[in-house]
Amino acid sequence: MFGIEDIYFADLPKRYPIPYFSYSQLSTFLTCPHSFELTYMSGKFQSRGNKYTAMGSVLHEIFEKQGKQLIAEGEPFTIGKAYQKFNKDFMKVKDEHLEYFTDKDDFIKMYKKGIQALDNFYGVYSETAPLYVEKKFLGRIADDLPDAKSYIDRIDGDPNDASTWIITDYKSGGSAKSKEYLRTDFQLGLYATQVFALTGKYPQAVQFYHPVIDKYQTAIHQGDGVYKFQGQRKPVVEFSVADTIIQIRKAVAGICEAVESGNWKLVPDSWGCKMCFHFEDGGCKPFNKQQQGWASI
Ligand code: SF4
Repeated sequence: MFGIEDIYFADLPKRYPIPYFSYSQLSTFLTCPHSFELTYMSGKFQSRGNKYTAMGSVLHEIFEKQGKQLIAEGEPFTIGKAYQKFNKDFMKVKDEHLEYFTDKDDFIKMYKKGIQALDNFYGVYSETAPLYVEKKFLGRIADDLPDAKSYIDRIDGDPNDASTWIITDYKSGGSAKSKEYLRTDFQLGLYATQVFALTGKYPQAVQFYHPVIDKYQTAIHQGDGVYKFQGQRKPVVEFSVADTIIQIRKAVAGICEAVESGNWKLVPDSWGCKMCFHFEDGGCKPFNKQQQGWASI
Protein backbone atom coordinates (compact mmCIF):
# COMPACT_ATOMS: atom_id res chain seq x y z
CA MET A 1 0.00 0.00 0.00
CA PHE A 2 1.41 3.41 -0.99
CA GLY A 3 0.97 6.56 1.10
CA ILE A 4 0.45 10.03 -0.37
CA GLU A 5 4.17 10.74 -0.27
CA ASP A 6 4.91 7.53 -2.19
CA ILE A 7 2.39 8.35 -4.91
CA TYR A 8 3.70 11.90 -5.24
CA PHE A 9 7.29 10.76 -5.61
CA ALA A 10 6.60 7.55 -7.53
CA ASP A 11 7.79 6.87 -11.09
CA LEU A 12 9.62 10.18 -11.46
CA PRO A 13 11.84 9.06 -14.38
CA LYS A 14 8.72 8.06 -16.37
CA ARG A 15 6.65 11.10 -15.40
CA TYR A 16 9.31 13.73 -15.95
CA PRO A 17 8.51 15.53 -19.25
CA ILE A 18 12.10 15.74 -20.53
CA PRO A 19 14.56 12.82 -20.93
CA TYR A 20 16.94 14.35 -18.39
CA PHE A 21 16.85 17.11 -15.81
CA SER A 22 19.41 19.87 -15.46
CA TYR A 23 20.20 22.53 -12.90
CA SER A 24 18.76 25.18 -15.24
CA GLN A 25 15.47 23.35 -15.60
CA LEU A 26 14.97 22.87 -11.88
CA SER A 27 16.07 26.35 -10.86
CA THR A 28 13.77 27.84 -13.51
CA PHE A 29 10.85 25.86 -12.08
CA LEU A 30 11.69 26.79 -8.49
CA THR A 31 11.94 30.48 -9.43
CA CYS A 32 8.69 30.51 -11.41
CA PRO A 33 6.82 27.40 -12.63
CA HIS A 34 5.19 29.41 -15.45
CA SER A 35 8.65 30.28 -16.77
CA PHE A 36 9.47 26.56 -16.89
CA GLU A 37 6.26 25.92 -18.83
CA LEU A 38 7.04 28.64 -21.38
CA THR A 39 10.69 27.64 -21.72
CA TYR A 40 10.52 23.86 -21.75
CA MET A 41 6.93 22.82 -22.42
CA SER A 42 5.39 25.22 -24.93
CA GLY A 43 8.23 25.09 -27.44
CA LYS A 44 7.13 28.56 -28.55
CA PHE A 45 9.76 30.58 -26.84
CA GLN A 46 13.47 30.57 -27.37
CA SER A 47 15.69 32.00 -24.69
CA ARG A 48 16.28 35.53 -25.94
CA GLY A 49 19.18 36.37 -23.67
CA ASN A 50 20.28 39.68 -22.21
CA LYS A 51 23.51 41.60 -21.70
CA TYR A 52 24.49 39.45 -18.70
CA THR A 53 23.95 36.09 -20.38
CA ALA A 54 25.60 37.39 -23.56
CA MET A 55 28.72 38.49 -21.71
CA GLY A 56 28.74 35.23 -19.77
CA SER A 57 28.69 33.23 -23.03
CA VAL A 58 31.50 35.28 -24.58
CA LEU A 59 33.68 34.87 -21.48
CA HIS A 60 32.89 31.15 -21.07
CA GLU A 61 33.94 30.51 -24.65
CA ILE A 62 37.27 32.26 -24.09
CA PHE A 63 37.93 30.42 -20.81
CA GLU A 64 37.12 27.11 -22.50
CA LYS A 65 39.44 27.84 -25.41
CA GLN A 66 42.26 28.90 -23.09
CA GLY A 67 41.86 25.74 -20.97
CA LYS A 68 41.73 23.43 -23.98
CA GLN A 69 44.92 24.94 -25.41
CA LEU A 70 46.72 24.34 -22.12
CA ILE A 71 45.44 20.75 -21.93
CA ALA A 72 46.58 20.08 -25.51
CA GLU A 73 49.90 21.81 -24.82
CA GLY A 74 49.34 23.66 -28.07
CA GLU A 75 50.05 27.25 -28.88
CA PRO A 76 48.94 29.21 -25.77
CA PHE A 77 45.75 31.20 -26.02
CA THR A 78 47.39 34.33 -24.62
CA ILE A 79 45.64 37.22 -22.96
CA GLY A 80 46.29 39.23 -26.14
CA LYS A 81 44.28 36.67 -28.12
CA ALA A 82 41.63 36.69 -25.42
CA TYR A 83 41.24 40.48 -25.71
CA GLN A 84 40.96 40.17 -29.49
CA LYS A 85 38.30 37.49 -29.27
CA PHE A 86 36.39 39.37 -26.59
CA ASN A 87 36.42 42.57 -28.68
CA LYS A 88 35.17 40.74 -31.76
CA ASP A 89 32.52 38.67 -30.01
CA PHE A 90 31.20 41.39 -27.71
CA MET A 91 30.97 43.87 -30.60
CA LYS A 92 28.95 41.23 -32.43
CA VAL A 93 26.58 41.04 -29.45
CA LYS A 94 26.11 44.82 -29.68
CA ASP A 95 25.54 44.69 -33.45
CA GLU A 96 23.02 41.87 -33.23
CA HIS A 97 21.31 42.86 -29.96
CA LEU A 98 21.54 46.59 -29.48
CA GLU A 99 18.35 46.29 -27.42
CA TYR A 100 20.34 44.56 -24.64
CA PHE A 101 21.94 47.89 -23.72
CA THR A 102 20.09 50.95 -22.47
CA ASP A 103 22.66 53.33 -24.01
CA LYS A 104 26.30 53.68 -24.98
CA ASP A 105 27.42 54.08 -21.35
CA ASP A 106 25.67 50.85 -20.45
CA PHE A 107 27.54 49.03 -23.22
CA ILE A 108 30.90 50.54 -22.17
CA LYS A 109 30.26 49.56 -18.54
CA MET A 110 29.64 45.94 -19.54
CA TYR A 111 32.62 45.95 -21.89
CA LYS A 112 34.93 47.14 -19.07
CA LYS A 113 33.58 44.43 -16.79
CA GLY A 114 34.44 41.85 -19.45
CA ILE A 115 38.02 43.12 -19.77
CA GLN A 116 38.36 43.11 -15.99
CA ALA A 117 37.13 39.51 -15.93
CA LEU A 118 39.78 38.50 -18.49
CA ASP A 119 42.56 40.22 -16.52
CA ASN A 120 41.48 38.50 -13.32
CA PHE A 121 41.03 35.10 -14.95
CA TYR A 122 44.46 35.21 -16.57
CA GLY A 123 45.94 36.39 -13.25
CA VAL A 124 44.87 33.05 -11.77
CA TYR A 125 44.75 30.52 -14.60
CA SER A 126 47.13 31.67 -17.36
CA GLU A 127 49.54 28.78 -16.81
CA THR A 128 47.48 26.20 -14.99
CA ALA A 129 46.21 23.43 -17.24
CA PRO A 130 42.83 22.17 -16.07
CA LEU A 131 41.98 18.50 -16.02
CA TYR A 132 38.71 19.11 -17.89
CA VAL A 133 36.79 22.07 -19.27
CA GLU A 134 33.07 22.01 -20.08
CA LYS A 135 32.98 18.44 -18.80
CA LYS A 136 29.67 16.76 -19.60
CA PHE A 137 28.01 14.53 -17.02
CA LEU A 138 24.91 12.58 -17.97
CA GLY A 139 23.50 9.80 -15.83
CA ARG A 140 21.60 8.80 -12.72
CA ILE A 141 22.41 10.33 -9.37
CA ALA A 142 19.67 8.27 -7.68
CA ASP A 143 17.65 5.29 -8.92
CA ASP A 144 14.31 7.06 -8.49
CA LEU A 145 15.30 10.18 -10.46
CA PRO A 146 15.58 10.83 -14.20
CA ASP A 147 19.10 11.17 -15.62
CA ALA A 148 20.88 14.38 -14.70
CA LYS A 149 22.79 16.37 -17.28
CA SER A 150 25.42 19.01 -16.52
CA TYR A 151 28.35 20.73 -18.15
CA ILE A 152 30.90 21.62 -15.49
CA ASP A 153 33.00 24.65 -16.45
CA ARG A 154 36.31 23.47 -15.04
CA ILE A 155 37.79 20.57 -13.08
CA ASP A 156 41.32 20.60 -11.64
CA GLY A 157 43.04 17.66 -9.97
CA ASP A 158 44.44 14.17 -10.47
CA PRO A 159 42.69 12.31 -13.32
CA ASN A 160 42.90 9.05 -11.34
CA ASP A 161 41.55 10.34 -8.06
CA ALA A 162 38.28 12.30 -8.00
CA SER A 163 38.75 13.02 -4.30
CA THR A 164 41.43 15.55 -5.36
CA TRP A 165 39.13 17.33 -7.79
CA ILE A 166 38.25 21.00 -7.50
CA ILE A 167 35.03 21.72 -9.34
CA THR A 168 34.63 25.29 -10.55
CA ASP A 169 31.62 27.07 -11.97
CA TYR A 170 32.28 30.53 -13.46
CA LYS A 171 29.83 33.29 -12.64
CA SER A 172 30.08 36.42 -14.73
CA GLY A 173 28.02 38.71 -12.47
CA GLY A 174 29.52 41.63 -10.61
CA SER A 175 28.84 40.41 -7.07
CA ALA A 176 29.33 37.31 -4.95
CA LYS A 177 26.40 35.10 -4.03
CA SER A 178 24.66 35.85 -0.75
CA LYS A 179 24.63 33.38 2.11
CA GLU A 180 20.92 32.88 1.53
CA TYR A 181 21.63 31.94 -2.09
CA LEU A 182 24.41 29.54 -1.07
CA ARG A 183 22.13 28.00 1.54
CA THR A 184 19.25 27.29 -0.84
CA ASP A 185 20.93 26.82 -4.23
CA PHE A 186 21.91 23.30 -5.22
CA GLN A 187 24.15 23.76 -8.27
CA LEU A 188 27.41 22.92 -6.48
CA GLY A 189 25.67 20.14 -4.55
CA LEU A 190 24.45 18.64 -7.83
CA TYR A 191 27.98 18.69 -9.28
CA ALA A 192 29.42 16.98 -6.19
CA THR A 193 26.61 14.41 -6.40
CA GLN A 194 27.30 13.72 -10.07
CA VAL A 195 31.02 13.25 -9.50
CA PHE A 196 30.24 10.84 -6.66
CA ALA A 197 27.73 8.92 -8.78
CA LEU A 198 30.30 8.53 -11.54
CA THR A 199 33.47 7.87 -9.56
CA GLY A 200 32.38 6.81 -6.06
CA LYS A 201 34.40 9.70 -4.61
CA TYR A 202 33.46 13.14 -3.39
CA PRO A 203 35.46 16.02 -4.94
CA GLN A 204 37.64 17.85 -2.42
CA ALA A 205 36.06 21.23 -3.22
CA VAL A 206 33.25 22.81 -5.21
CA GLN A 207 33.28 26.51 -5.92
CA PHE A 208 32.00 29.52 -7.78
CA TYR A 209 34.65 31.75 -9.34
CA HIS A 210 33.54 35.31 -10.14
CA PRO A 211 36.17 36.65 -12.55
CA VAL A 212 34.72 40.19 -12.74
CA ILE A 213 35.47 40.69 -9.02
CA ASP A 214 38.17 37.99 -8.79
CA LYS A 215 36.42 36.19 -5.96
CA TYR A 216 35.98 32.53 -5.07
CA GLN A 217 33.23 31.06 -2.97
CA THR A 218 34.59 27.64 -2.09
CA ALA A 219 33.02 24.79 -0.15
CA ILE A 220 35.41 22.10 1.10
CA HIS A 221 34.45 18.47 1.59
CA GLN A 222 34.26 17.61 5.31
CA GLY A 223 33.55 13.88 4.88
CA ASP A 224 30.48 11.79 4.00
CA GLY A 225 29.32 14.22 1.32
CA VAL A 226 29.10 17.26 3.62
CA TYR A 227 30.53 20.55 2.32
CA LYS A 228 31.33 23.73 4.24
CA PHE A 229 32.02 27.18 2.74
CA GLN A 230 35.35 28.79 3.60
CA GLY A 231 36.04 32.32 4.80
CA GLN A 232 32.55 33.05 6.07
CA ARG A 233 31.55 34.61 9.38
CA LYS A 234 29.32 32.41 11.52
CA PRO A 235 26.87 30.91 10.79
CA VAL A 236 28.87 29.23 8.03
CA VAL A 237 26.83 27.74 5.19
CA GLU A 238 27.01 23.96 4.84
CA PHE A 239 25.25 21.57 2.50
CA SER A 240 25.30 17.85 1.90
CA VAL A 241 24.91 15.57 -1.07
CA ALA A 242 22.09 13.76 0.78
CA ASP A 243 20.16 17.03 1.22
CA THR A 244 20.85 18.00 -2.39
CA ILE A 245 19.22 14.79 -3.60
CA ILE A 246 16.16 15.50 -1.42
CA GLN A 247 15.93 19.06 -2.83
CA ILE A 248 16.22 17.76 -6.38
CA ARG A 249 13.64 15.03 -5.80
CA LYS A 250 11.12 17.61 -4.54
CA ALA A 251 11.71 19.87 -7.56
CA VAL A 252 11.43 17.00 -10.03
CA ALA A 253 8.22 15.80 -8.34
CA GLY A 254 6.87 19.37 -8.42
CA ILE A 255 7.43 19.54 -12.17
CA CYS A 256 5.72 16.17 -12.68
CA GLU A 257 2.74 17.37 -10.63
CA ALA A 258 2.50 20.59 -12.64
CA VAL A 259 2.59 18.64 -15.92
CA GLU A 260 -0.21 16.37 -14.73
CA SER A 261 -2.41 19.09 -13.22
CA GLY A 262 -1.65 21.76 -15.82
CA ASN A 263 -1.18 24.17 -12.94
CA TRP A 264 1.89 26.28 -13.71
CA LYS A 265 1.96 28.92 -11.00
CA LEU A 266 3.15 32.44 -11.87
CA VAL A 267 5.59 33.95 -9.39
CA PRO A 268 5.85 37.64 -10.30
CA ASP A 269 8.83 39.29 -8.71
CA SER A 270 10.39 42.60 -9.71
CA TRP A 271 13.97 41.35 -10.09
CA GLY A 272 13.05 37.83 -11.26
CA CYS A 273 10.73 39.12 -13.99
CA LYS A 274 13.29 41.72 -15.08
CA MET A 275 15.75 38.88 -15.69
CA CYS A 276 13.11 36.60 -17.25
CA PHE A 277 13.26 36.04 -21.02
CA HIS A 278 9.48 35.83 -21.24
CA PHE A 279 8.70 39.26 -19.86
CA GLU A 280 10.12 41.33 -22.71
CA ASP A 281 9.17 38.76 -25.33
CA GLY A 282 5.57 39.33 -24.30
CA GLY A 283 5.14 35.65 -23.48
CA CYS A 284 4.21 36.58 -19.95
CA LYS A 285 2.52 39.75 -18.72
CA PRO A 286 2.25 39.19 -15.00
CA PHE A 287 1.60 42.83 -14.10
CA ASN A 288 -1.01 45.43 -15.00
CA LYS A 289 -1.52 45.04 -18.76
CA GLN A 290 -2.09 48.78 -19.13
CA GLN A 291 1.38 49.43 -17.85
CA GLN A 292 4.20 48.03 -19.89
CA GLY A 293 7.94 48.24 -19.41
CA TRP A 294 9.93 48.55 -16.22
CA ALA A 295 7.65 51.29 -14.87
CA SER A 296 5.03 48.61 -14.25
CA ILE A 297 7.26 46.79 -11.80
S1 SF4 B 1 7.78 37.24 -16.38
FE1 SF4 B 1 7.79 36.78 -14.17
S2 SF4 B 1 5.84 35.70 -13.79
FE2 SF4 B 1 6.21 35.67 -16.01
S3 SF4 B 1 7.24 33.73 -16.45
FE3 SF4 B 1 8.84 35.27 -16.12
S4 SF4 B 1 9.34 35.16 -13.91
FE4 SF4 B 1 7.36 34.13 -14.21
